[in-house]
Amino acid sequence: MARSAGSKASDPSRRSELAALPSVEELAGRLRDGGASHALAVRAARAAIAVRREEISAGGGGELHGETIEDLARSFLRAAGELNLRPVLNATGVIVHTNLGRAPLAAAAIDAAAGVARGYSNLEYELGPGRRGSRQTHVEALVRELTGSEAALVVNNCAGAVLLAAASLAAGRELIVSRGQLVEIGGSFRVPEVVAQSGARLVEVGTTNRTRLADYERAIGPETGAIMRAHPSNFRTVGFVEEVEVEALCELARDKRILVVDDVGSGALAEGVPELGDEPAVRRSVAAGCAVVCFSGDKLLGGPQAGVMVGERAALERCRNHPLARALRIDKLSLAALEATLRLYLDPEAARREIPVLRMLSAPESELAARAEAMRAALVDGGVDARVIRSSAKVGGGALPLLELEGPVCAVDPDALGVDELARRLRAGDPPLVARAREGWLLLDPRTLDDEGAQAAADLIVAASR
Ligand SMILES: *Cc1c(COP(=O)(O)O)cnc(C)c1O
Repeated sequence: MARSAGSKASDPSRRSELAALPSVEELAGRLRDGGASHALAVRAARAAIAVRREEISAGGGGELHGETIEDLARSFLRAAGELNLRPVLNATGVIVHTNLGRAPLAAAAIDAAAGVARGYSNLEYELGPGRRGSRQTHVEALVRELTGSEAALVVNNCAGAVLLAAASLAAGRELIVSRGQLVEIGGSFRVPEVVAQSGARLVEVGTTNRTRLADYERAIGPETGAIMRAHPSNFRTVGFVEEVEVEALCELARDKRILVVDDVGSGALAEGVPELGDEPAVRRSVAAGCAVVCFSGDKLLGGPQAGVMVGERAALERCRNHPLARALRIDKLSLAALEATLRLYLDPEAARREIPVLRMLSAPESELAARAEAMRAALVDGGVDARVIRSSAKVGGGALPLLELEGPVCAVDPDALGVDELARRLRAGDPPLVARAREGWLLLDPRTLDDEGAQAAADLIVAASR
């Protein structure tokens, strides 16, 4: 009430404030004197005047934050030159952080993507005979070799791969799924809904905690197209729990002449990484005889976003020829990065050394301790109280939910600022830094920062604490 009465009284002053606003031409001219191009100066001037008009009309006054209209226009001009999507320092210790872009790429993958981005490429061109080719040829043999499969197909992501497999192999027929595997992966990928989209009819078998081979056997009938398995990537059931092993399921499917689709999610291909022990190996599902096995490119594989499909030639041929395959096709930058990442897997030792996700997963304690200590020392030098403590982090990305990656972390005392305000300032920084708050402290996990990133994180915190 008081507010509306006040704004009525100020109508004449509001009119004069509006009249005092500069014209677009005038304001843009001032920005151009600062070196801006005509188009960007006019755009920023228009935006600033529009904001100021709104503020005045709403009765907020002409200079809301003590900022002149020219300052405001300059901030619009600056924002036009800055990217929204940009690098962030991840100090959370969550290795495959979906909100922070999942897997950082290996240097070879970055180079490969940049190489094909810069100009033309033989994406769908056979250089030998000089004729049209398939983009799949660049990775097909590699994927087959690494997984032991007969055939391979790569698409946009794993969610797309599962949809394509269900649509190609079971549309118009029944698709059997254990009740323990009707999972939601996140980002609204829910198995029952994906099956519905594929045009297959979902047949649920077993119970939430126990599904036996006999449950599948009873459900198979003349209308059955396939059995689908989905890995409960981001959770585990414990206690009185039973699921059917992939080998037994494939044997049953062979007897009944139906197919098995296995969505393993993360797709562990690496050898010699004990931390991956709990993830289903792609090779195992292929060897068991699944028609199609689907996995992600940017989770524990450590590559770009992609959905990799491996399995039997005839089944993958049906997927390749389905109209959805074109809608879900992988783009050339991802394909280039995927090929380079897969090549690293040819030498397991090189994969562990060069692929950031694998390197972080098995980072030795000594390396983590040294990086945490370097951060602590830099912070204390800068007048910020910090200490090295032990904490544990998760793999993230809906993988290995039980694995606690224990190790040293640098705990920062935010002092009078408070942990929420410090975290807010760091997120607004350049580059932005994302870290976990715990019991009033800010934790910097050295696992997801490299040496350079750790130094930058300490510098950012010293600056933000002032
Ligand atoms: C992550 C995941 C998906 C989705 O993979 P995207 O590559 O993110 O599309 C599907 N199924 C399972 C079991 C997963 O873990």
